[in-house]
Amino acid sequence: MSARFEQNPADVLARLGTLRQGDAPTHGGRVLSYVYDSGLAELDDLAASAIRAVQPVNALDPTTFTSVAVMEREVIGFAREVFHGDEQVVGTVTSGGTESCLLAVKTARELWRVDAARRARAGGVEPGTRVPRILAPSTVHAAFHKAADYFGLRLELVPVDPASGLPRAEDFAALLADADDVALVVLSAPAYPHGVIDPIREVSALAAAAGVSCHVDACFGGFVLPWWPGLDAAGWDLQLPGVTSLSADLHKYGYAPKGASVLLQRGRDRQRQQYFATTGWPGYPVVNSTLLGSKSAAALAAAWAITQSLGTSGFAELTASCARATAALTATINGIEGLRVVGKPTGPAIAVAVDDSVEPERRVDPHHWADQARAHGWQLQLQPGFTHSDGSRLPATAHLTVTPVTESRLPELTAALVAAADEVRGVPAVDVTPLLASLGGAFGGALPPELDADAAYGLLQAIGLAPDAGAAGTGSAALPERLAPFLALVEALPPAVAEPLLTELIARLVEPA
Ligand SMILES: *Cc1c(COP(=O)(O)O)cnc(C)c1O
Repeated sequence: MSARFEQNPADVLARLGTLRQGDAPTHGGRVLSYVYDSGLAELDDLAASAIRAVQPVNALDPTTFTSVAVMEREVIGFAREVFHGDEQVVGTVTSGGTESCLLAVKTARELWRVDAARRARAGGVEPGTRVPRILAPSTVHAAFHKAADYFGLRLELVPVDPASGLPRAEDFAALLADADDVALVVLSAPAYPHGVIDPIREVSALAAAAGVSCHVDACFGGFVLPWWPGLDAAGWDLQLPGVTSLSADLHKYGYAPKGASVLLQRGRDRQRQQYFATTGWPGYPVVNSTLLGSKSAAALAAAWAITQSLGTSGFAELTASCARATAALTATINGIEGLRVVGKPTGPAIAVAVDDSVEPERRVDPHHWADQARAHGWQLQLQPGFTHSDGSRLPATAHLTVTPVTESRLPELTAALVAAADEVRGVPAVDVTPLLASLGGAFGGALPPELDADAAYGLLQAIGLAPDAGAAGTGSAALPERLAPFLALVEALPPAVAEPLLTELIARLVEPA
């Protein structure tokens, strides 16, 4: 039997090829965020073959598709070894860092409920009347904001020092003094915004003393830090007894295609709180280790093939290249007048801020710099400034994620970074006051406290950011060439306006014309 195709599959694929030409380049090191290029074509081929081999598999049920259990067990075994977990450490392969973080929070919330119920029986406050809290440095990944939102916890952000990017252990000690409603402490290795490692040894010990779970988010750095030159793993990984869970993304420095991360948990009983199981419906008995039901085994198979094939020595070599390139870029940037690297990053991420110690006309605004580097063909990531609850401010920065492919491109990249700085030195940061005034004008003086979809779209049109219908279809980018004004606006607007505006920007992209 041959099916009747309305469109020739070859033509459909040809169109996909055209669409892909509109994408940012995933290989070659020109995009210094989002993509993690090992620079090894063999690894990409290996991943593609592994994906092809499991393409029709449903990883929902590892008893029916037994290859899934074997691959997952071996990936967890690899991770447990490199993060120094003992035989009490068990784990799961998830769809990505966000899912690992969501599940770490869900687990901690379930354990907190069990504890709170026990305390209530002993005469304390009813658990149902309290909202459990997560304590984390302000630099904790947005995935924990999402987890708090999804699972009904309150995220309490601990300010970090603007110069070092680090929180103070004493602040955690103070917050843990009355820990009855603290369900989880989260620390990062390293934190994404500045690439610095939180004081995990000190704070995990404080959490342990208070009887509170402590998650290490190594989503970004997990698969480089074990081999990072000069770094002692005893300061951040599962060797620390207070660390109760750890996440690490296989689709970052595990070089796997998107869709794979590991969540390790200390203790079977803890980890079982991560699961969802029900016999309460007339269909098949459900046991889910992760958020999804039916799921692909593609990224798992690719990550499995890569970890098996590279082994720890392969990872060590790729990490050495990242470390050399990061050191070279740090030296280059510190040598550029008007810019400075924030704090002392450990690992392959650098955040670059303006150097306020030089005359204003010698300063380089990091967002103008990033826009100019983009004009030279290199995409840095713009990070907005941030105000803590205590009023202290983190500066706007440009973020660079360094991957193994970066080293081979260093001469060109260095030249572009230096030239871009020369071209924008002395140009002050974007002043959004006029734009804000014109936005307010569109609403009779003040921005509305709540924006529905059409009001948000109207605002996007007023500032020239409305995606035109079908923009995605032609492959044309939705955002302007210069992102500095856009980021300045995001930073200046209250979250209640900025968030629906950003939602609208993205949601309209996929509306059929
Ligand atoms: C990337 C990242 C995450 C979230 O991971 P996704 O894979 O994007 O879902 C969480 N934490 C840190 C530190 C990260 O870098």
